[in-house]
Amino acid sequence: MRYYSTRSKSQGLSFAQAALTGLAPDGGLFVPELIPPYPAAVQSSLGTMDFHDIAFETIKPYVQGEIPDPVLADLVHAAYPFSAPLVQVGDRLVLELFHGPTAAFKDFGARFMARAFAYLRRGEDRPLHILVATSGDTGGAVAAGFHGVAGIEVTVLYPKGRVSPLQEQQIAGLGGNIQALAVEGTFDDCQRLVKGAFSNQALHKKRSLSSANSINIARLIPQSIYYAAAAGKAFAGKCDTPQGASPWDERKPAAPGTVSLKPGEPITFCVPSGNFGNLTAGLYALKMGAPIRGFIAATNINKTVPDYLDSGLYQPRPSQATISNAMDVGAPSNFERMSDQWSLEALRQILQGVYVSDEATRRIIRDVRQSQGYFLDPHTAVAWQGLNQICPGASLPGPVGILATAHPAKFAGIVEPLAGPVPVPESLTHVLERKPRARIIPADSSALLEVLC
Ligand SMILES: *Cc1c(COP(=O)(O)O)cnc(C)c1O
Repeated sequence: MRYYSTRSKSQGLSFAQAALTGLAPDGGLFVPELIPPYPAAVQSSLGTMDFHDIAFETIKPYVQGEIPDPVLADLVHAAYPFSAPLVQVGDRLVLELFHGPTAAFKDFGARFMARAFAYLRRGEDRPLHILVATSGDTGGAVAAGFHGVAGIEVTVLYPKGRVSPLQEQQIAGLGGNIQALAVEGTFDDCQRLVKGAFSNQALHKKRSLSSANSINIARLIPQSIYYAAAAGKAFAGKCDTPQGASPWDERKPAAPGTVSLKPGEPITFCVPSGNFGNLTAGLYALKMGAPIRGFIAATNINKTVPDYLDSGLYQPRPSQATISNAMDVGAPSNFERMSDQWSLEALRQILQGVYVSDEATRRIIRDVRQSQGYFLDPHTAVAWQGLNQICPGASLPGPVGILATAHPAKFAGIVEPLAGPVPVPESLTHVLERKPRARIIPADSSALLEVLC
């Protein structure tokens, strides 16, 4: 498979080159030359295949010739000692993506990427330096994914005071090969600083730089796995029983779900979106042939993409702070990947946009806790409420799956005043004991270069 920049199709790179470079030198994002269809035998058995087999089959065509099959098989087993259950909550399906070590969906991309990098860099003696800007969850997932991986150093930039205390512990509490920088600015400032560092020639001479944002193609591709697995399951008329770390009220047994799943119906996914990496991976899964009817992109007030779907005008803007802070992105990077593959008209066929206010997000966290005994984190709540707004009272054709992108215990400060005490999954209890140690820098490119040079 060759990879091209979204801004020029002249020079194709290998997977290793695209992944290790991160951002294309012309400022574009790497995209595969084609989105490979699943072989018919795989496509027809997505509903019965094991999660690791789906992971293997999904990633394989993208890394063919560069990561041998047996290595890839080991890699996906090592990356995913957890999976993504599709559970019923009342009359809805929820795709729980928070059963990994940092309790958010970014574990799926980050854990594959860390292991892929370690394999692709085998035998090198200069350490690889990974620069990542985070609005909250990326940093924790990347830090956890790479922590202790030999030959790799990581610097995480996050907006000071705009991530939750727990996110800060995940990002800045590890130490070792993970350095944390608290930037006095917004997430967009962090992204600008990282982009600036990548285009600095002097720094490139000094260090082997790579990114780990959702702009990295090695993080994007594995996020297609859970869409394919969940769509396959729903198409086979099945879903999963809730697992240990599902955020049900412990005092109240989970009410039996009332979803009637009929075999042969493609699913619609409702995706809480910020930088649009998750949604783009869903679009890739659809194009590969997973039985998906379409998507709903639910955002907070940072509604650049819903506005684009409405008006046809793409107008990036500064981000605004909300209670779903991992989605506070006014200029979503992955828009460039979406529009590289899909025209506005093509997107409108498969994607609806909706935005949700903080007030409505708070209200739905309280309501769903009361009616279902289930806790939503603020991001998942945006998707739940977005679906209410898209089809009030009525239902869409076929099943609908809401992507639960984080465990509510990660945002206890917001959720608990609305919904009461949230059960804390084991993955998070030990993080709570860490002491964050970040270096504070102004939102200024020269400050970052000073730290790195
Ligand atoms: C990152 C994140 C999102 C947004 O995902 P994108 O791929 O940036 O659209 C949503 N919810 C949570 C909890 C996140 O961490």
